Order: sequence, then structure tokens, then C-alpha cells
Amino acid sequence: MIKQLVLASNNAGKLREFGELMAPLGIDILPQSQLGVSEADEPHFTFVENALAKARHAAQHAKLPAFADDSGICVAALHGEPGVHSARFAGNPKSDPRNNEKLVTLLQSQTDRRAHYYCAVVLVRHAQDPEPLIAEGRWHGEIIATPRGDGGFGYDPYFFVPALGKTAAELPAEEKNAISHRGQALRRLIAMLRERENI
Ligand code: IMP
Repeated sequence: MIKQLVLASNNAGKLREFGELMAPLGIDILPQSQLGVSEADEPHFTFVENALAKARHAAQHAKLPAFADDSGICVAALHGEPGVHSARFAGNPKSDPRNNEKLVTLLQSQTDRRAHYYCAVVLVRHAQDPEPLIAEGRWHGEIIATPRGDGGFGYDPYFFVPALGKTAAELPAEEKNAISHRGQALRRLIAMLRERENI
């Protein structure tokens, strides 16, 4: 029975969101930094491999079950880029303003504005777990040229959701979490965990 789970991230927003979703299952979420776990490398071509690498690394060092997410934005006209390179699309150090500027410039004369956020969430019971739980989520929208809203983070002010008539940065956090790629993936993971652990 899983009672504690290490989150392979130190992001306070993720900790709160994941913690709220896991609380009804009687599972405590511990950020890896609290256990002295360093950040893992993310060298892979796929989100799921990067999430697995992060979860394994945390499980190995904390000696506890662990889970990790890996996410990004995939733009149709850019053949899926920035994808796994979303955080450092405009190079080092990470910069949301420079990433957004690069994205908007690349799409300047582009009529196909379609994009989706993608998230993979992986949970391992231990570092060698042969049956990781893996869930994914996709959130579809379009890239606009002029930013709107001041919520969210990253590409949110440029990620417009036609069905809502709003960008992700114009949504209150709870509304975004209810429909986002990360929210979808997390709820699926929790359903898988409930089924396997019988809780
Ligand atoms: P990570 O999975 O937390 O490493 O996120 C990778 C990168 O994808 C972030 O740095 C953002 O650039 C982008 N990203 C992922 N999810 C979102 C989101 O919900 N809003 C805005 N940007 C996001």
C-alpha cells in the first residue's frame, strides 16, 4: 500500500495541485528537495521517457515510491516542436519571454496556428519497477500573436482555447487544472492507481 509518494519536482504549484488530488487516497506527497534528491537529467526524445527517468531517479535516491511529470507544447506547423525542448526553446538560461518571442516569430507568416500542450505522468513503486503507471493528457488550442492574460506560466498567454474564447493565462487556476494536459494526465494516473491498489 502506497502511503507516501515523492514528487520528482520542486515546483510549488505542482506540489499543491498533485497534493490536493492525492489527499483523498490517503497519500502524502513529498517534494524531492525535502529528501535531498537532486534534479535528474532529461536527455530523451519523448516526454514519457523523461518522466520515467525523473521518477526512477527520485525513487532510487529517496528509497520511496515516486512520480514525475514531463510536459511541453507541440506546435503543428513546427512539426511538434518545441515539444520536449519547451522549457529551453530559446536556449539557456530558461526564459519564458524569450521562448514566447521565438515561438511567435517562427509563426509570423504561418496560417496554421494549431498547437497542443502534452503531459506524461509516470509513477514507480521503486527504481526497478517493471510496471510503471503511465498516463498522458493533451490540451488543444492555437498560438496567437499578441499575449492575453496574466495567470499561468510559460506559453499560457499565447495559448488560445477557441472553445472558451480565452487563453490559458486568462483562466483561474482551478479552471485550468480541471481541463489542462496536466490535470487530465493526473486524474488518469489516479484512476489507474486506485484500480491497482484497490483504494
Ligand atoms: P516541465 O514539464 O515542468 O519541465 O515543463 C516543460 C515546459 O513546458 C515549461 O517550462 C513550459 O515552457 C512548458 N509548459 C508545460 N506545461 C505548461 C503549461 O501548463 N503552461 C505553459 N507552459 C507549459
